[in-house]
Amino acid sequence: MHCPFCGKTETKVVDSRLVAEGQQIRRRRECSACHERFTTFEIAELLMPRLIKADGSRQPFDEDKLRGGIQRALEKRPVSIESIEACINRIKHSLRATGERELPSRQVGEAVMEELRKLDQVAYVRFASVYRSFQDINEFKAEIDRLAGDESAAKELER
Ligand SMILES: [Zn+2]
Repeated sequence: MHCPFCGKTETKVVDSRLVAEGQQIRRRRECSACHERFTTFEIAELLMPRLIKADGSRQPFDEDKLRGGIQRALEKRPVSIESIEACINRIKHSLRATGERELPSRQVGEAVMEELRKLDQVAYVRFASVYRSFQDINEFKAEIDRLAGDESAAKELER
């Protein structure tokens, strides 16, 4: 890159280190012409696909919204913050891995349900009931019946 002081293109890296828990590289550079030093940061650009809503409108992916939905479903459940964050990372990774620039927003909902089903069955049913808005009442009932075998989960749902 050009030296921000004199505009020459010959600069050399004099120091390079990982910062922000390895998420960034900080480089000290020195201009070969004027010998001024400056710092650059390098971060990976991981673009999330945009989401296509049911009405066809497009929205940027919103990680806070995703986290909020998952946390609401997991309220008072014995699940650690680390597990929640790992689950969010897996969801983001799976969405990115499609390689698509735009995805139907329901794909995010399905990914969340898939993760919650593995993480916590009570949270899964909570999320599914809100997400599906009881549109598919038979499927929902079948899920409840299936969970009835798991007494602690069934008890939680009765509260
Ligand atoms: Zn310079």
